[in-house]
Amino acid sequence: MEHLNALRQITLALDRVTLAGFSISGLATYIQIPELDVCFDMGEAPLSSLPINHIFLTHAHGDHARCLPRHWHLRRMIGIARPAAYFLPEAIRAGFEGLVQAEARFEGVPDEAVTVPDFYGLVPGADSVALPYRKDLRVRAFPVTHSVPSLGYTILSRKRKLKAEYAGVPGPEIAKLRASGVEVQYEIDEPAVTFIGDCIGASLVEQAHIWDSPIVIIEATFLEPGEEALAAKKQHTHLSEIARTLEELGDRVATKHIVLKHFSMRYSRDEVMALTASGIPERFRDRIRVLL
Ligand SMILES: [Zn+2]
Ligand SMILES: [Zn+2]
Repeated sequence: MEHLNALRQITLALDRVTLAGFSISGLATYIQIPELDVCFDMGEAPLSSLPINHIFLTHAHGDHARCLPRHWHLRRMIGIARPAAYFLPEAIRAGFEGLVQAEARFEGVPDEAVTVPDFYGLVPGADSVALPYRKDLRVRAFPVTHSVPSLGYTILSRKRKLKAEYAGVPGPEIAKLRASGVEVQYEIDEPAVTFIGDCIGASLVEQAHIWDSPIVIIEATFLEPGEEALAAKKQHTHLSEIARTLEELGDRVATKHIVLKHFSMRYSRDEVMALTASGIPERFRDRIRVLL
């Protein structure tokens, strides 16, 4: 049962970033990526999450959202002056503000002293937004289907690349051009990581752009053959839908690390490992990482 302890963090080292967190359906989900200064969802707020400045909430369910106020309070309590940026669906922003205000009043804070975190309400499909404390990173929100309004997030990394017309030009000459004021580079935003909280399997096809990300973190709540109808009823993804999506998209899947998370409590750790190993098409099996 140790795999159900939400404060025992799983760490996955994926090339240049580290995922550290926990995700079991109904208990809690939070995934920290310190190198990008981001944390996705906040079903728990361990001390390790406090220095992280950008928090992304996918949806309002308690196992994904309930510790956001705790993160905000604890940061102030330990003296972190800089306010964290809390990104969430615009559809739930006012509701969350009300929740924070109600909690403050419940704790006896006088009305005039009640404040709320710095919420950034995101609208699905809108332009990407800069992360306030990381000028090299932006976020793009996209809609996914769950039982309540829910967003997926792609973190984009701004890169500078040499313009095609200067390809093959020797370095010293490029340096000379730059010195004379010629703009030899252009900027491009490349996906670094994509995170989805909870969604139905169809969202993985409708939002096929997610498979351009080198790292995709998705839910696989139900794993066992025969549980497909249950997954659909609860508006969660079944492993077979991930398998089918990968089969169908084939070479279009550029993702190097497909991280599965948010398993139902009904499975033991060994069952999760065995079912995820057998349920994914062989050609994609070495790209699967299990956050457990
Ligand atoms: Zn959930
Ligand atoms: Zn949910």
